[in-house]
Order: sequence, then C-alpha cells, then structure tokens
Amino acid sequence: MKHFVRPFLMSAALCAATFLPAHAEMDVARLKATIEKSVEADYPKLDALYKDIHAHPEIAFEEVKTAAKLAAEMRALGFEVTEKVGKTGLVAIYKNGDGPTIMVRTELDALPMEEKTGLAYASHDKTVWNGRETFVAHSCGHDIHMASWVGTAKTLVGLKDQWQGTLMFIAQPAEETVSGAKAMLADGLFTRFKKPDFGFALHDGPFPYGYISYRVGIGSSNSDSLEITFHGRGGHGAAPQRTIDPVMMAARFVVDVQSVISREKDPTEFGVVSIGAIQGGTAENIIPDDVLLRGTIRTFKPEVRAKMLAGIERTAKAAAAMSDAPAPEIKITEGAKAVMNDPQVVATAEKVLKAAFGDKFRTSPPGTPSEDYSEFVNAGVPSMFFNIGVYELERFVAASNGTGPELPSNHSPLFAPVPKPTIETGVTAMTLAVLSAFDQHARGK
Ligand SMILES: [Zn+2]
Ligand SMILES: [Zn+2]
Repeated sequence: MKHFVRPFLMSAALCAATFLPAHAEMDVARLKATIEKSVEADYPKLDALYKDIHAHPEIAFEEVKTAAKLAAEMRALGFEVTEKVGKTGLVAIYKNGDGPTIMVRTELDALPMEEKTGLAYASHDKTVWNGRETFVAHSCGHDIHMASWVGTAKTLVGLKDQWQGTLMFIAQPAEETVSGAKAMLADGLFTRFKKPDFGFALHDGPFPYGYISYRVGIGSSNSDSLEITFHGRGGHGAAPQRTIDPVMMAARFVVDVQSVISREKDPTEFGVVSIGAIQGGTAENIIPDDVLLRGTIRTFKPEVRAKMLAGIERTAKAAAAMSDAPAPEIKITEGAKAVMNDPQVVATAEKVLKAAFGDKFRTSPPGTPSEDYSEFVNAGVPSMFFNIGVYELERFVAASNGTGPELPSNHSPLFAPVPKPTIETGVTAMTLAVLSAFDQHARGK
C-alpha cells in the first residue's frame, strides 16, 4: 500500500486558504468544495485501500493485517500510532496545538459469512470461527468506514492550519461481537491516552449515496439476550396429574410475555421481546422435566428496558407458580447499549452539515439494531453517530416503489456499496463534522 501524505501536503492551495477565520462563520460551501477536490484527487489511493481491505477481510479480534494496513497509513500522515490496544485495536494521535481532543472511530472487523456479490474485488478468504471453517466478508461495510477514516485523517492533516487541538483516530476490533469497544476501554483507551472531548463515528446503510442520516438522542437499540429454563416433573403424557408440565409453562410464558409490551410498557415507547428458540421434550407421550426458551429484548430507553426486564421476570415466575413448579432459572445477558447522540455536538455539526448537504442531510428514526460505540458514549465522550448511504438513487427509488429489486442491506451476502461516492461522502461529512467541533470550541473560548 502506498502512502498518500506527500501529494496531499504538496497541495499548497489547501494549506494556504483560510476558511475558519477567528470569530467568523465557517465558509462551509468553500470548505466543502476544497475537501471534495482534495478527496477526488486522492481517491485512487483510497479506492485501492478499500478494495484491498474488502478482498481480505478478518473477523473479530483477528484483524491483524487490517490493523497493520491502517497503522502504516496513519504513520505516513504523521500520526503517532499505538497498536494492539484491546487486542487488535489502534490508537492514532495527531497533535496540532492547543485545543480539544476529538475522537473519530472506525471498526476493523468483518463477518463470518460468504460474499456473493460477484464483484471483481469480492472476498474469497476463509478462516476458522468457533472451531469451524468459514468464509469471511465485509458485508457490514466496515471497509467503507476504514477508507473514510483514513481519508478524513488525511484531509484534516492537509487542513491543519484551519484547526487547533488533537486528533484521536481509533480503529476498533470486534464490533460485530459487541466486544471490541469494551476491550479497548479495558486496555486503557481513556487512561493511557487522554479521554477525548468529543467523538464521531459513521455507519453505512442501504440508502442513496450522497445522503446522510442522523438522530438527536437515541440512535440504536439496547440489546439483551434472554434465557429461561422452566423446571417441571416429567412423566407419562397419559397421566399428567402425576407431572408438572414445563411445556405448559413455556407456552403460557410465550403468550403472556407479550402483555408486558401491550399492557405494561408505554405504547409510544419502543420495546420488543421475541422468543426465537424453544427446546424441550423428545416424544409425543413424554412430558419432559425441563423446557428452555431463548429470546432477545430490544429497547431504546433505560427506563423502558428496566420495566420490561422486571415484567419478563415476573411473567416467567408467574407461569411457574401457576403450575406449582419451582421458580424458573432466568438469565439475562446484557449486549450493546443504545447509542445516545449528544444534543450539543449534533447541534454544532448539524449547522455545518445542513449548509454543506442541504436536504440530503436529514434526520431518521432510530434503528433497532445495536452498536457498541455506545461504550465510548457511556464512558463520557459526547458524540455524534451518523449514517451514510451506499446505493444509486435510481435503484433506491425503484426498490422503494416496487418497480425494481430490493436492495441488499448490511449483513446480506449481496451487500455491495458503490465505493467512490460513498467514501467521498464519508470523508467530506466526517471532516466537516470534526471541523465544526474544533470551530465551536475555538469560538467558545
Ligand atoms: Zn454489522
Ligand atoms: Zn456494522
């Protein structure tokens, strides 16, 4: 991989122009045009990086080669890079005078699945995952995020006479297993390095490229997994009076638990409980001893989550009590927490991104998937997480009105972002968002 720093720094026009004069509004239109021109000129190198990472994906906590590629790019740009933070993560720091520290995060990991896009740069790589051989693919688009992350770093270094402070670019492992952010924090992300004043991250999604969507407040869901074992007393199906039937308890629970959603939760608040697996019994005439249920619980707000967890537990205990059975075993495992966007950070970036992208920058309802960027927010980094589109507008419109095929979403084996406009939008939007935070801070002084 070639490094891009030299041609970029030789871009005298970029360094000489001043778009952020003290105590004046940012000239967003001019700044955006300059960023776009620079990204356009350097795009072939970002494209090569993207396609190389796409063709050679690595799964959670195995992103060794991917991290090494990013480390080389960042060092070439003048960042001080620390590797192996949280096993395979990277921290890249660039100091540029007094000012806030701003974090920009990308993920490193791909998914254990086969890519079926047929693209020239499609992945054919395999690895061993949980003891089984599997294909690996960047079907969540984290490769787009990495290319945008490097492009943003490069653009901000090129514009370094426009801002003051410290860039903290982090590359996080294992987002898909919702464990990489925790691993980086446990490895001293905010103690070995200064805790950032603000943070930004982006994710791609199946909507038109050039468009950006965002939320004030909640952006993704809390996720909890649920496991309940109902204990009964097995026996002959023809003599139920001598048994305690756990199938009956499980059946009652599956139906009654939905009343937690419909009768206990505020109907205007988001909350879902889905039972995805029931395991118990062997034959039609044997009442089993136990039945195991597995499910997922999704919420946006902590108070709704607490209410639902309490209701689910009560419903399970009641189902057992009705059968005079022992109390069930209930195991709730916390997954990712909801990502909360900071109103102040969003308000600042919003002004600039709205001026830059017009009505292509728009709010969207919170997504029900989960995302572990929330770990950084909950560790005290006021942040903005936003989404960028990946497909042609015409294909999106056709899919929406039913005249064209449905567009593959993230985690589909057919997910295939159009690289150039997607990465260019990612770099431009992220660069402007970071500059807006530096600018706001400089004004506030
Ligand atoms: Zn994903
Ligand atoms: Zn993802």
